[in-house]
Amino acid sequence: MDQTKEQNDDYGYNLFPERKKSKYQKGSIGESLFTFSHKCQIMLHVAVETNPYAKVLLGALKNSGCAVYKDRHFSCEDCDGTVSGGFDATTSQIVLCQNNIHQQAHMNRVVTHELIHAFDHCRAHVDWFNNFKHLACSEIRAASLSGDCSFSNEVARFNFGLKKHHQECVRDRATRSILAVRKISKEEAVKTVDEVFDSCYNDHEPFGRIPHSKKDARFAYRDFENRDRYYENL
Ligand SMILES: [Zn+2]
Repeated sequence: MDQTKEQNDDYGYNLFPERKKSKYQKGSIGESLFTFSHKCQIMLHVAVETNPYAKVLLGALKNSGCAVYKDRHFSCEDCDGTVSGGFDATTSQIVLCQNNIHQQAHMNRVVTHELIHAFDHCRAHVDWFNNFKHLACSEIRAASLSGDCSFSNEVARFNFGLKKHHQECVRDRATRSILAVRKISKEEAVKTVDEVFDSCYNDHEPFGRIPHSKKDARFAYRDFENRDRYYENL
């Protein structure tokens, strides 16, 4: 990447203004932020303790040597625009946008989506900043495996469709995620997603399948626990 591009590209950090400033600059709206922050913490707690998608990922991260601690690795913050969350690879922290997440189901999906990025970061040497293919691959997996494109979400968006539609939704969301954080053209983003789509869409780790519902995720969690048991018996 050349110097000019590096200077023009802030890697999406402009979407997360609190990443740059001190914690004590929140000022007079502190009280309402506390409320948002408190609600965010509670929903995060519910997600990591009860959501089967999150539990599969937390277990897999731990087994891969990247144990996730709620206080160290998650941060509830105010974000710009409509962004819901992000994975900050430089600090290995998941940012949850407390001003944009208002429902538990949404929190569950954001936590799951970002944990997939954390899992990819843990298991592979992902070059998030310079290799668009690496970023595209993780965005494809996060969109596909987090339930972002699951049937009920799509129905809610009046995008009633079949299996083929899941793939189109994943393509579309992955492309939009890249465009949100990197200054590249839409054509370049679409092309990059295309290039890695098949191999990344078919990589279902650590779920072993595309979990289309909580029920699927619960099965994946059961299988995951049995995997552990198998290792313990060796
Ligand atoms: Zn993402």
